[in-house]
Amino acid sequence: MSSNQHYSFFHSVEQSFDKAAKFTQWDPGILEQIKACNSVYQMRFPVKLDDGTIEVIEAYRVQHSQHKSPCKGGIRFSDEVNQDEVMALASLMTYKCAIVNVPFGGGKGGIKINPKKYSTYELEKITRRYTAELVKKNFIGPGIDVPAPDYGTGSREMAWIVDTYASLKPGEIDAAGCVTGKPVTQGGVRGRTEATGLGVYFGIREVCNMPDVMQKLGLTVGIKDKTVIVQGLGNVGYHSAKFFREGGAKVVALAEYEGAIYNPAGLNEDEVFQHRKKTGSILNFPGATNLAKNTDALELECDILIPAALENVINGENAPRVKAKIIGEAANGPCTPEADDVFAQKGILCVPDMYLNAGGVTVSYFEWLKNLSHVRYGRMEKRFTENMNTRILGQMEELTGKSVAGKDREFILHGPEEQDLVHSGLEETMITATREIMEIWKSNPEIPDMRTAAYVSAINKVATSYGELGIFP
Ligand code: NAD
Repeated sequence: MSSNQHYSFFHSVEQSFDKAAKFTQWDPGILEQIKACNSVYQMRFPVKLDDGTIEVIEAYRVQHSQHKSPCKGGIRFSDEVNQDEVMALASLMTYKCAIVNVPFGGGKGGIKINPKKYSTYELEKITRRYTAELVKKNFIGPGIDVPAPDYGTGSREMAWIVDTYASLKPGEIDAAGCVTGKPVTQGGVRGRTEATGLGVYFGIREVCNMPDVMQKLGLTVGIKDKTVIVQGLGNVGYHSAKFFREGGAKVVALAEYEGAIYNPAGLNEDEVFQHRKKTGSILNFPGATNLAKNTDALELECDILIPAALENVINGENAPRVKAKIIGEAANGPCTPEADDVFAQKGILCVPDMYLNAGGVTVSYFEWLKNLSHVRYGRMEKRFTENMNTRILGQMEELTGKSVAGKDREFILHGPEEQDLVHSGLEETMITATREIMEIWKSNPEIPDMRTAAYVSAINKVATSYGELGIFP
Protein backbone atom coordinates (compact mmCIF):
# COMPACT_ATOMS: atom_id res chain seq x y z
CA MET A 1 0.00 0.00 0.00
CA SER A 2 1.70 3.19 -1.12
CA SER A 3 -0.15 5.59 1.14
CA ASN A 4 -2.39 5.27 4.14
CA GLN A 5 -5.05 7.25 2.31
CA HIS A 6 -5.67 4.40 -0.11
CA TYR A 7 -5.73 1.73 2.55
CA SER A 8 -9.14 0.10 2.84
CA PHE A 9 -9.84 -1.93 5.96
CA PHE A 10 -12.85 -3.48 4.25
CA HIS A 11 -10.67 -4.53 1.32
CA SER A 12 -8.15 -6.14 3.66
CA VAL A 13 -10.97 -8.19 5.24
CA GLU A 14 -12.01 -9.21 1.71
CA GLN A 15 -8.44 -10.33 1.05
CA SER A 16 -8.36 -12.54 4.15
CA PHE A 17 -11.73 -13.93 3.08
CA ASP A 18 -10.44 -14.72 -0.43
CA LYS A 19 -7.34 -16.40 1.01
CA ALA A 20 -9.59 -18.76 3.01
CA ALA A 21 -12.27 -19.17 0.31
CA LYS A 22 -9.69 -21.04 -1.83
CA PHE A 23 -9.95 -23.89 0.66
CA THR A 24 -13.72 -24.21 0.22
CA GLN A 25 -15.84 -25.60 -2.62
CA TRP A 26 -18.60 -22.99 -2.68
CA ASP A 27 -20.00 -21.44 -5.81
CA PRO A 28 -18.23 -18.13 -6.56
CA GLY A 29 -21.63 -16.37 -6.54
CA ILE A 30 -22.34 -17.52 -3.00
CA LEU A 31 -18.88 -16.37 -1.89
CA GLU A 32 -19.50 -12.98 -3.52
CA GLN A 33 -22.81 -12.65 -1.67
CA ILE A 34 -21.24 -13.58 1.68
CA LYS A 35 -18.51 -10.95 1.25
CA ALA A 36 -20.83 -8.11 0.23
CA CYS A 37 -22.23 -5.58 2.71
CA ASN A 38 -26.01 -5.84 2.30
CA SER A 39 -27.08 -2.43 3.61
CA VAL A 40 -25.18 0.73 4.45
CA TYR A 41 -27.05 3.56 6.16
CA GLN A 42 -25.19 6.83 6.29
CA MET A 43 -26.92 9.61 8.14
CA ARG A 44 -26.49 13.24 9.20
CA PHE A 45 -28.51 14.84 11.95
CA PRO A 46 -28.28 18.08 13.89
CA VAL A 47 -27.74 18.41 17.61
CA LYS A 48 -27.93 21.58 19.68
CA LEU A 49 -24.92 21.73 22.00
CA ASP A 50 -24.93 23.11 25.53
CA ASP A 51 -23.62 26.49 24.32
CA GLY A 52 -26.54 26.83 21.88
CA THR A 53 -24.57 26.09 18.68
CA ILE A 54 -25.86 23.49 16.24
CA GLU A 55 -23.57 20.73 15.06
CA VAL A 56 -24.27 18.30 12.24
CA ILE A 57 -23.29 14.77 13.24
CA GLU A 58 -22.12 12.10 10.79
CA ALA A 59 -23.10 8.52 11.66
CA TYR A 60 -23.45 5.05 10.18
CA ARG A 61 -25.09 1.70 10.63
CA VAL A 62 -24.05 -1.17 8.40
CA GLN A 63 -25.82 -4.52 8.09
CA HIS A 64 -23.35 -6.83 6.46
CA SER A 65 -25.40 -10.00 6.30
CA GLN A 66 -28.95 -11.13 6.95
CA HIS A 67 -28.31 -14.86 6.52
CA LYS A 68 -29.44 -14.96 10.16
CA SER A 69 -31.59 -12.38 11.92
CA PRO A 70 -31.13 -10.06 13.67
CA CYS A 71 -27.86 -8.37 12.69
CA LYS A 72 -25.52 -7.78 15.60
CA GLY A 73 -22.56 -5.54 16.31
CA GLY A 74 -21.36 -2.67 18.45
CA ILE A 75 -21.65 1.08 18.10
CA ARG A 76 -18.40 2.99 18.11
CA PHE A 77 -17.98 6.65 19.09
CA SER A 78 -14.74 7.88 17.57
CA ASP A 79 -13.24 10.65 15.46
CA GLU A 80 -11.86 7.94 13.18
CA VAL A 81 -15.26 6.50 12.21
CA ASN A 82 -15.80 6.24 8.45
CA GLN A 83 -17.90 4.11 6.13
CA ASP A 84 -15.06 1.79 5.13
CA GLU A 85 -14.21 1.03 8.77
CA VAL A 86 -17.82 0.36 9.76
CA MET A 87 -18.28 -1.93 6.74
CA ALA A 88 -15.13 -3.89 7.64
CA LEU A 89 -16.16 -4.24 11.28
CA ALA A 90 -19.68 -5.32 10.28
CA SER A 91 -18.30 -8.04 8.02
CA LEU A 92 -15.96 -9.27 10.76
CA MET A 93 -19.03 -9.58 13.02
CA THR A 94 -20.71 -11.89 10.48
CA TYR A 95 -17.69 -14.19 10.53
CA LYS A 96 -17.19 -13.99 14.29
CA CYS A 97 -20.83 -14.89 15.03
CA ALA A 98 -20.75 -17.78 12.55
CA ILE A 99 -17.59 -19.26 14.07
CA VAL A 100 -19.02 -19.32 17.60
CA ASN A 101 -22.44 -20.50 16.41
CA VAL A 102 -24.25 -17.35 17.49
CA PRO A 103 -27.22 -17.10 15.10
CA PHE A 104 -26.84 -13.46 14.06
CA GLY A 105 -25.77 -11.64 10.92
CA GLY A 106 -23.00 -9.07 11.23
CA GLY A 107 -23.67 -5.38 11.83
CA LYS A 108 -21.79 -2.37 13.12
CA GLY A 109 -22.52 1.26 13.87
CA GLY A 110 -20.45 4.36 14.30
CA ILE A 111 -20.84 7.99 15.21
CA LYS A 112 -17.99 10.24 14.11
CA ILE A 113 -17.39 12.10 17.37
CA ASN A 114 -14.80 12.18 20.09
CA PRO A 115 -16.99 11.48 23.13
CA LYS A 116 -14.49 13.24 25.43
CA LYS A 117 -15.38 16.57 23.77
CA TYR A 118 -19.06 16.43 24.72
CA SER A 119 -20.98 16.78 27.97
CA THR A 120 -23.01 13.84 29.25
CA TYR A 121 -26.20 15.63 28.25
CA GLU A 122 -24.90 16.23 24.71
CA LEU A 123 -23.86 12.58 24.39
CA GLU A 124 -27.32 11.53 25.55
CA LYS A 125 -28.97 13.76 22.94
CA ILE A 126 -26.70 12.40 20.18
CA THR A 127 -27.30 8.77 21.19
CA ARG A 128 -31.07 9.19 21.43
CA ARG A 129 -31.28 11.00 18.08
CA TYR A 130 -29.13 8.31 16.44
CA THR A 131 -31.51 5.67 17.82
CA ALA A 132 -34.54 7.59 16.52
CA GLU A 133 -32.92 7.74 13.06
CA LEU A 134 -32.38 3.97 13.17
CA VAL A 135 -36.02 3.43 14.20
CA LYS A 136 -37.26 5.66 11.33
CA LYS A 137 -35.48 3.52 8.75
CA ASN A 138 -36.28 0.22 10.46
CA PHE A 139 -32.58 -0.31 11.21
CA ILE A 140 -32.96 -1.41 14.83
CA GLY A 141 -35.15 -3.90 16.68
CA PRO A 142 -34.92 -7.25 18.47
CA GLY A 143 -35.65 -9.08 15.19
CA ILE A 144 -33.85 -6.64 12.86
CA ASP A 145 -30.57 -5.31 14.15
CA VAL A 146 -29.28 -5.31 17.73
CA PRO A 147 -26.39 -2.94 18.61
CA ALA A 148 -24.00 -3.32 21.56
CA PRO A 149 -21.15 -1.33 23.13
CA ASP A 150 -17.88 -0.85 21.29
CA TYR A 151 -14.99 1.61 21.45
CA GLY A 152 -16.18 4.78 23.21
CA THR A 153 -19.54 3.41 24.35
CA GLY A 154 -20.71 1.36 27.32
CA SER A 155 -23.75 0.29 29.30
CA ARG A 156 -24.84 3.92 29.81
CA GLU A 157 -25.28 4.51 26.07
CA MET A 158 -27.08 1.16 25.74
CA ALA A 159 -29.53 2.24 28.46
CA TRP A 160 -30.30 5.45 26.46
CA ILE A 161 -30.82 3.38 23.31
CA VAL A 162 -33.25 0.90 24.88
CA ASP A 163 -35.19 3.72 26.53
CA THR A 164 -35.50 5.67 23.25
CA TYR A 165 -36.48 2.56 21.31
CA ALA A 166 -39.10 1.49 23.87
CA SER A 167 -40.65 4.94 23.98
CA LEU A 168 -40.97 5.05 20.18
CA LYS A 169 -42.41 1.52 20.05
CA PRO A 170 -45.09 1.45 22.75
CA GLY A 171 -46.42 -2.02 23.46
CA GLU A 172 -43.49 -3.81 21.84
CA ILE A 173 -43.14 -6.58 24.37
CA ASP A 174 -39.59 -7.54 23.31
CA ALA A 175 -38.25 -3.98 23.19
CA ALA A 176 -35.48 -4.78 25.72
CA GLY A 177 -33.91 -7.07 23.12
CA CYS A 178 -33.21 -4.13 20.75
CA VAL A 179 -29.71 -3.67 22.21
CA THR A 180 -27.30 -5.65 24.42
CA GLY A 181 -24.64 -4.67 26.93
CA LYS A 182 -27.30 -2.95 29.03
CA PRO A 183 -26.95 -2.46 32.78
CA VAL A 184 -28.37 -5.46 34.68
CA THR A 185 -31.14 -3.21 36.05
CA GLN A 186 -32.23 -2.38 32.46
CA GLY A 187 -32.36 -5.98 31.20
CA GLY A 188 -28.64 -6.74 31.00
CA VAL A 189 -27.20 -10.13 31.94
CA ARG A 190 -24.83 -11.05 34.75
CA GLY A 191 -21.43 -12.26 33.52
CA ARG A 192 -21.03 -9.78 30.65
CA THR A 193 -18.16 -7.77 32.20
CA GLU A 194 -15.72 -10.67 32.39
CA ALA A 195 -17.05 -12.48 29.29
CA THR A 196 -14.31 -11.63 26.79
CA GLY A 197 -11.42 -12.42 29.16
CA LEU A 198 -13.08 -15.65 30.27
CA GLY A 199 -13.68 -16.63 26.64
CA VAL A 200 -9.99 -16.04 25.90
CA TYR A 201 -9.09 -18.35 28.79
CA PHE A 202 -11.54 -21.09 27.72
CA GLY A 203 -10.28 -20.98 24.12
CA ILE A 204 -6.59 -21.19 25.04
CA ARG A 205 -7.24 -23.84 27.70
CA GLU A 206 -8.94 -26.00 25.06
CA VAL A 207 -5.94 -25.63 22.74
CA CYS A 208 -3.65 -26.60 25.64
CA ASN A 209 -5.78 -29.70 26.25
CA MET A 210 -5.07 -31.02 22.73
CA PRO A 211 -2.20 -33.54 23.07
CA ASP A 212 -1.17 -33.45 19.37
CA VAL A 213 -1.03 -29.64 19.29
CA MET A 214 0.97 -29.50 22.53
CA GLN A 215 3.39 -32.14 21.32
CA LYS A 216 4.10 -30.12 18.16
CA LEU A 217 4.80 -27.03 20.27
CA GLY A 218 6.95 -28.98 22.73
CA LEU A 219 4.59 -28.23 25.62
CA THR A 220 2.90 -30.42 28.19
CA VAL A 221 -0.88 -30.91 28.03
CA GLY A 222 -3.04 -28.64 30.21
CA ILE A 223 -2.99 -25.08 31.44
CA LYS A 224 -1.36 -25.83 34.80
CA ASP A 225 2.05 -24.18 35.34
CA LYS A 226 2.10 -22.62 31.86
CA THR A 227 3.85 -19.25 31.90
CA VAL A 228 1.69 -16.40 30.62
CA ILE A 229 2.40 -12.77 29.66
CA VAL A 230 -0.46 -10.30 29.30
CA GLN A 231 -0.28 -6.92 27.55
CA GLY A 232 -2.97 -4.46 28.71
CA LEU A 233 -4.58 -4.53 32.13
CA GLY A 234 -7.94 -3.21 30.94
CA ASN A 235 -11.20 -5.14 30.90
CA VAL A 236 -10.02 -7.98 28.66
CA GLY A 237 -6.42 -8.21 29.91
CA TYR A 238 -7.32 -8.07 33.59
CA HIS A 239 -9.93 -10.82 33.31
CA SER A 240 -7.75 -12.99 31.06
CA ALA A 241 -4.91 -12.77 33.62
CA LYS A 242 -7.33 -13.55 36.46
CA PHE A 243 -8.75 -16.69 34.83
CA PHE A 244 -5.30 -17.96 33.75
CA ARG A 245 -4.01 -17.55 37.31
CA GLU A 246 -7.10 -19.20 38.82
CA GLY A 247 -6.73 -22.02 36.28
CA GLY A 248 -3.23 -22.81 37.60
CA ALA A 249 -1.07 -20.91 35.09
CA LYS A 250 1.60 -18.41 36.15
CA VAL A 251 1.31 -14.84 34.91
CA VAL A 252 5.02 -13.93 34.81
CA ALA A 253 4.79 -10.48 33.17
CA LEU A 254 2.25 -7.71 32.70
CA ALA A 255 2.57 -4.72 30.37
CA GLU A 256 0.72 -1.41 30.38
CA TYR A 257 1.41 1.68 28.34
CA GLU A 258 3.64 3.19 31.08
CA GLY A 259 5.85 0.11 31.39
CA ALA A 260 6.08 -3.60 32.09
CA ILE A 261 6.92 -5.78 35.09
CA TYR A 262 8.28 -9.29 35.43
CA ASN A 263 8.27 -11.85 38.21
CA PRO A 264 9.07 -15.49 37.36
CA ALA A 265 7.27 -16.57 40.57
CA GLY A 266 3.99 -15.18 39.21
CA LEU A 267 1.98 -11.95 39.54
CA ASN A 268 -1.49 -11.44 40.95
CA GLU A 269 -3.38 -9.21 38.50
CA ASP A 270 -5.60 -7.71 41.17
CA GLU A 271 -2.70 -6.75 43.43
CA VAL A 272 -1.00 -5.13 40.42
CA PHE A 273 -4.24 -3.37 39.50
CA GLN A 274 -4.58 -1.97 43.05
CA HIS A 275 -0.92 -0.92 43.04
CA ARG A 276 -1.50 0.90 39.73
CA LYS A 277 -4.56 2.61 41.14
CA LYS A 278 -2.60 3.77 44.18
CA THR A 279 0.65 4.83 42.50
CA GLY A 280 -0.56 5.60 38.97
CA SER A 281 1.74 2.97 37.44
CA ILE A 282 2.29 -0.77 37.35
CA LEU A 283 6.05 -0.13 37.75
CA ASN A 284 7.85 -0.74 41.07
CA PHE A 285 5.44 -3.48 42.08
CA PRO A 286 6.88 -5.28 45.14
CA GLY A 287 8.83 -8.42 44.20
CA ALA A 288 8.78 -7.66 40.47
CA THR A 289 11.45 -6.31 38.12
CA ASN A 290 10.73 -3.30 35.93
CA LEU A 291 11.46 -3.85 32.24
CA ALA A 292 13.21 -1.11 30.28
CA LYS A 293 10.42 -0.74 27.69
CA ASN A 294 6.80 -1.87 27.86
CA THR A 295 7.17 -3.74 24.56
CA ASP A 296 10.02 -5.82 26.06
CA ALA A 297 7.34 -7.94 27.73
CA LEU A 298 6.24 -9.21 24.31
CA GLU A 299 9.70 -10.65 23.69
CA LEU A 300 10.26 -12.54 26.95
CA GLU A 301 10.44 -16.31 27.21
CA CYS A 302 6.94 -17.72 27.98
CA ASP A 303 4.45 -20.36 26.90
CA ILE A 304 1.47 -18.09 26.20
CA LEU A 305 1.44 -14.43 25.16
CA ILE A 306 -1.86 -12.53 25.42
CA PRO A 307 -1.89 -9.15 23.67
CA ALA A 308 -5.02 -7.50 25.10
CA ALA A 309 -4.44 -3.81 24.39
CA LEU A 310 -4.17 -2.47 20.85
CA GLU A 311 -3.90 -3.47 17.22
CA ASN A 312 -0.62 -4.03 15.30
CA VAL A 313 1.58 -4.48 18.40
CA ILE A 314 3.28 -7.57 16.98
CA ASN A 315 4.49 -6.89 13.49
CA GLY A 316 7.21 -7.74 10.96
CA GLU A 317 9.77 -5.84 13.04
CA ASN A 318 9.38 -7.49 16.46
CA ALA A 319 7.76 -10.85 15.55
CA PRO A 320 11.16 -12.52 14.92
CA ARG A 321 12.05 -11.79 18.57
CA VAL A 322 8.83 -13.22 20.07
CA LYS A 323 9.65 -16.33 22.11
CA ALA A 324 6.14 -17.40 23.14
CA LYS A 325 4.90 -20.77 21.86
CA ILE A 326 1.25 -19.71 21.75
CA ILE A 327 -0.17 -16.25 21.04
CA GLY A 328 -3.77 -15.66 22.09
CA GLU A 329 -5.18 -12.63 20.28
CA ALA A 330 -7.42 -11.13 22.96
CA ALA A 331 -7.34 -7.66 21.36
CA ASN A 332 -8.65 -7.04 17.86
CA GLY A 333 -5.89 -7.22 15.26
CA PRO A 334 -2.81 -7.28 17.56
CA CYS A 335 -0.72 -9.21 15.00
CA THR A 336 -0.09 -8.02 11.44
CA PRO A 337 -0.07 -10.32 8.36
CA GLU A 338 3.77 -9.99 8.35
CA ALA A 339 3.83 -11.30 11.93
CA ASP A 340 1.61 -14.22 10.86
CA ASP A 341 4.23 -15.19 8.26
CA VAL A 342 6.98 -15.13 10.90
CA PHE A 343 4.88 -17.29 13.27
CA ALA A 344 4.25 -19.84 10.51
CA GLN A 345 8.01 -20.07 9.88
CA LYS A 346 8.90 -20.33 13.56
CA GLY A 347 6.12 -22.79 14.40
CA ILE A 348 4.39 -20.39 16.81
CA LEU A 349 0.66 -21.01 17.16
CA CYS A 350 -1.41 -17.84 16.84
CA VAL A 351 -4.98 -18.30 18.08
CA PRO A 352 -6.97 -15.70 16.11
CA ASP A 353 -8.92 -12.76 17.50
CA MET A 354 -11.95 -13.37 15.33
CA TYR A 355 -13.04 -16.24 17.50
CA LEU A 356 -10.86 -16.00 20.62
CA ASN A 357 -12.37 -12.67 21.73
CA ALA A 358 -15.94 -13.65 20.82
CA GLY A 359 -16.92 -14.02 24.49
CA GLY A 360 -18.56 -10.59 24.46
CA VAL A 361 -20.85 -11.29 21.53
CA THR A 362 -21.63 -14.77 22.84
CA VAL A 363 -22.84 -13.37 26.15
CA SER A 364 -24.71 -10.63 24.25
CA TYR A 365 -26.58 -13.47 22.57
CA PHE A 366 -27.46 -14.85 26.01
CA GLU A 367 -28.66 -11.36 27.03
CA TRP A 368 -30.88 -11.12 23.94
CA LEU A 369 -32.34 -14.59 24.67
CA LYS A 370 -33.01 -13.51 28.27
CA ASN A 371 -34.82 -10.40 26.99
CA LEU A 372 -36.99 -12.43 24.60
CA SER A 373 -37.83 -15.01 27.26
CA HIS A 374 -38.57 -12.35 29.91
CA VAL A 375 -37.06 -14.46 32.67
CA ARG A 376 -33.76 -14.37 34.52
CA TYR A 377 -31.48 -17.34 33.89
CA GLY A 378 -31.69 -19.82 36.75
CA ARG A 379 -35.02 -18.60 38.08
CA MET A 380 -36.88 -21.76 37.07
CA GLU A 381 -34.30 -24.40 37.97
CA LYS A 382 -32.13 -23.08 40.80
CA ARG A 383 -34.29 -24.16 43.73
CA PHE A 384 -35.33 -27.41 42.07
CA THR A 385 -31.70 -28.36 41.47
CA GLU A 386 -30.71 -27.50 45.04
CA ASN A 387 -33.53 -29.63 46.47
CA MET A 388 -32.59 -32.51 44.19
CA ASN A 389 -28.87 -32.25 45.01
CA THR A 390 -29.64 -32.17 48.75
CA ARG A 391 -31.60 -35.41 48.46
CA ILE A 392 -29.00 -37.15 46.27
CA LEU A 393 -26.16 -36.15 48.61
CA GLY A 394 -28.21 -37.23 51.64
CA GLN A 395 -28.76 -40.67 50.11
CA MET A 396 -25.10 -41.04 49.23
CA GLU A 397 -24.00 -40.02 52.71
CA GLU A 398 -26.40 -42.53 54.23
CA LEU A 399 -25.16 -45.33 51.95
CA THR A 400 -21.45 -44.63 52.45
CA GLY A 401 -21.56 -43.49 56.07
CA LYS A 402 -19.37 -40.55 55.08
CA SER A 403 -20.32 -36.92 54.93
CA VAL A 404 -19.19 -34.15 52.62
CA ALA A 405 -18.37 -30.83 54.27
CA GLY A 406 -17.19 -27.32 53.57
CA LYS A 407 -16.65 -25.96 50.06
CA ASP A 408 -17.25 -29.36 48.39
CA ARG A 409 -20.66 -29.59 50.04
CA GLU A 410 -21.55 -26.07 48.98
CA PHE A 411 -20.45 -26.81 45.41
CA ILE A 412 -22.49 -30.02 45.10
CA LEU A 413 -25.67 -28.57 46.58
CA HIS A 414 -25.56 -25.23 44.81
CA GLY A 415 -28.18 -24.63 42.11
CA PRO A 416 -27.18 -22.46 39.14
CA GLU A 417 -27.40 -18.67 39.30
CA GLU A 418 -27.55 -16.54 36.18
CA GLN A 419 -23.78 -15.99 36.17
CA ASP A 420 -23.05 -19.74 36.49
CA LEU A 421 -25.23 -20.49 33.48
CA VAL A 422 -23.75 -17.67 31.41
CA HIS A 423 -20.20 -18.88 32.21
CA SER A 424 -21.03 -22.46 31.36
CA GLY A 425 -22.75 -21.46 28.10
CA LEU A 426 -19.63 -19.49 27.21
CA GLU A 427 -17.37 -22.43 28.10
CA GLU A 428 -19.37 -24.74 25.84
CA THR A 429 -19.30 -22.19 23.01
CA MET A 430 -15.54 -21.62 23.13
CA ILE A 431 -14.68 -25.32 23.42
CA THR A 432 -16.90 -26.22 20.46
CA ALA A 433 -15.56 -23.40 18.28
CA THR A 434 -11.93 -24.29 19.09
CA ARG A 435 -12.49 -27.93 18.18
CA GLU A 436 -14.30 -27.06 14.95
CA ILE A 437 -11.52 -24.76 13.77
CA MET A 438 -8.80 -27.26 14.68
CA GLU A 439 -10.65 -30.02 12.80
CA ILE A 440 -10.76 -27.86 9.66
CA TRP A 441 -7.07 -27.01 10.00
CA LYS A 442 -6.08 -30.65 10.48
CA SER A 443 -8.25 -31.81 7.58
CA ASN A 444 -6.25 -29.75 5.08
CA PRO A 445 -2.48 -29.45 5.49
CA GLU A 446 -2.45 -26.66 2.89
CA ILE A 447 -4.26 -24.26 5.26
CA PRO A 448 -1.37 -22.10 6.49
CA ASP A 449 -2.63 -21.02 9.90
CA MET A 450 -5.43 -21.12 12.45
CA ARG A 451 -6.70 -17.70 11.30
CA THR A 452 -7.36 -19.03 7.80
CA ALA A 453 -8.98 -22.13 9.29
CA ALA A 454 -11.28 -19.86 11.33
CA TYR A 455 -12.31 -17.98 8.17
CA VAL A 456 -12.98 -21.31 6.44
CA SER A 457 -15.20 -22.29 9.36
CA ALA A 458 -17.11 -18.99 9.03
CA ILE A 459 -17.50 -19.27 5.26
CA ASN A 460 -18.78 -22.85 5.50
CA LYS A 461 -21.38 -21.93 8.10
CA VAL A 462 -22.68 -18.80 6.37
CA ALA A 463 -22.80 -20.55 2.98
CA THR A 464 -24.63 -23.51 4.53
CA SER A 465 -27.26 -21.28 6.07
CA TYR A 466 -27.85 -19.55 2.72
CA GLY A 467 -28.50 -23.07 1.43
CA GLU A 468 -30.86 -23.75 4.35
CA LEU A 469 -32.78 -20.58 3.55
CA GLY A 470 -33.34 -21.93 0.05
CA ILE A 471 -31.94 -18.77 -1.51
CA PHE A 472 -29.40 -20.76 -3.46
CA PRO A 473 -31.09 -24.11 -4.05
P1 NAD B 1 -9.60 -1.29 27.84
O1 NAD B 1 -9.55 0.12 27.40
O2 NAD B 1 -10.39 -1.67 29.06
O3 NAD B 1 -8.12 -1.84 28.10
C1 NAD B 1 -7.02 -1.62 27.26
C2 NAD B 1 -5.79 -1.49 28.16
O4 NAD B 1 -4.61 -1.49 27.36
C3 NAD B 1 -5.78 -0.19 28.97
O5 NAD B 1 -5.57 -0.50 30.33
C4 NAD B 1 -4.60 0.58 28.38
O6 NAD B 1 -3.94 1.40 29.32
C5 NAD B 1 -3.71 -0.55 27.91
N1 NAD B 1 -2.75 -0.10 26.89
C6 NAD B 1 -2.86 0.90 26.00
N2 NAD B 1 -1.73 1.02 25.29
C7 NAD B 1 -0.90 0.07 25.72
C8 NAD B 1 0.43 -0.29 25.37
N3 NAD B 1 1.09 0.32 24.40
N4 NAD B 1 1.00 -1.31 26.04
C9 NAD B 1 0.34 -1.96 27.01
N5 NAD B 1 -0.91 -1.66 27.39
C10 NAD B 1 -1.52 -0.65 26.75
O7 NAD B 1 -10.09 -2.10 26.56
P2 NAD B 1 -10.63 -3.60 26.50
O8 NAD B 1 -12.11 -3.57 26.51
O9 NAD B 1 -9.89 -4.45 27.50
O10 NAD B 1 -10.19 -4.01 25.03
C11 NAD B 1 -8.86 -4.41 24.71
C12 NAD B 1 -8.84 -5.01 23.33
O11 NAD B 1 -9.74 -6.11 23.26
C13 NAD B 1 -9.26 -4.07 22.19
O12 NAD B 1 -8.53 -4.42 21.04
C14 NAD B 1 -10.72 -4.41 21.98
O13 NAD B 1 -11.17 -4.08 20.67
C15 NAD B 1 -10.67 -5.91 22.20
N6 NAD B 1 -11.98 -6.51 22.54
C16 NAD B 1 -12.67 -6.12 23.65
C17 NAD B 1 -13.87 -6.74 23.97
C18 NAD B 1 -14.63 -6.40 25.23
O14 NAD B 1 -15.63 -7.10 25.53
N7 NAD B 1 -14.21 -5.42 26.02
C19 NAD B 1 -14.41 -7.72 23.12
C20 NAD B 1 -13.69 -8.11 21.98
C21 NAD B 1 -12.46 -7.49 21.71
